[in-house]
Amino acid sequence: MRVLKFGGSSLASVARFLEVAAIVRSQPQTEPVGLVLSAPHGVTNLLVELTDLAFLGTGYQDALNGWRQRLQKMRADAAAVLGNEAQQRLQAVLAAQDATLSNRRQGVELLHYCPDHIKAQLLGLGEQFSVALMAELLLAQQVKAVLLDSVQCVKSQGDYLNAVADVPASEIALGAAVKKQPAQVYVLAGFVSSNTQGELCLLGRNGSDYSAAIVAAALRASVCEIWTDVDGVYSADPRQVKNAKLIDHLSYDEAMELSYFGAKVLHPKTIGPLARYQIPCYIKKYRDWE
Ligand code: ADP
Ligand code: ASP
Ligand code: MG
Repeated sequence: MRVLKFGGSSLASVARFLEVAAIVRSQPQTEPVGLVLSAPHGVTNLLVELTDLAFLGTGYQDALNGWRQRLQKMRADAAAVLGNEAQQRLQAVLAAQDATLSNRRQGVELLHYCPDHIKAQLLGLGEQFSVALMAELLLAQQVKAVLLDSVQCVKSQGDYLNAVADVPASEIALGAAVKKQPAQVYVLAGFVSSNTQGELCLLGRNGSDYSAAIVAAALRASVCEIWTDVDGVYSADPRQVKNAKLIDHLSYDEAMELSYFGAKVLHPKTIGPLARYQIPCYIKKYRDWE
């Protein structure tokens, strides 16, 4: 298994989803791909805004409308490349997400408070949309893709919003799911997981890198590739520091240190599971935006 993770920066529109699908199709056929996806760019922030304001019963509408418009536009754009049944399945996913958002929001307004487990369920919706869309795009391109439910297969412990990986439990759940459904590409939502009670827990903001590492460790992947908008780890954030230097190679300890001190390119907990099983990690640039 090769694990490839694409961040929100690579998933801003259907055109970019199609480019990611092309990268996935170009992978060697010798091993299956575990494809871990973030939410489309900006979508989690809209959901954060919505959940932060929902308890007031007002002021959340812009975020809610923004979320609806973003995803409905992506669904409409995808219609050009999807058959009728796939379009209907995607519409059903969106309708279910809309119903979840409306119900939870009303509950939060009545409570005047948003409990963390409800917040987790809402913030994870962006990733769950990404994987539904990507699975349909790959299937439409005759790729043998299977959508694995990260809530069932990626296991964690601790806080609802900042959980810690349970790699042995993930190994059992993911191993069984993969064995049951042979495929060329396994599509998994980043950021979301579940605890031993089966409740949805998030892996912290920017946590899809960590999801990729958990999947890679649990399935003893040959490699974990983090595809993003920079071509590697630099000596400092290349967007902030003009003469930041690209670092050719880092030990697990060095990578861990850099991410703990704030290098956003990798979620700080990503390296732990990879180091444990000596899985190489590559940072790859998705494309030049500028
Ligand atoms: P993604 O959406 O793909 O997860 P992120 O925005 O989370 O991408 O992470 C990539 C960003 O990390 C880069 O655009 C860059 O600005 C930032 N970054 C911060 N520190 C570093 C660093 N030391 N090396 C590379 N990128 C860094
Ligand atoms: N979508 C989540 C976030 O914005 C997780 C991620 O993108 O890694 O924090
Ligand atoms: Mg990130």
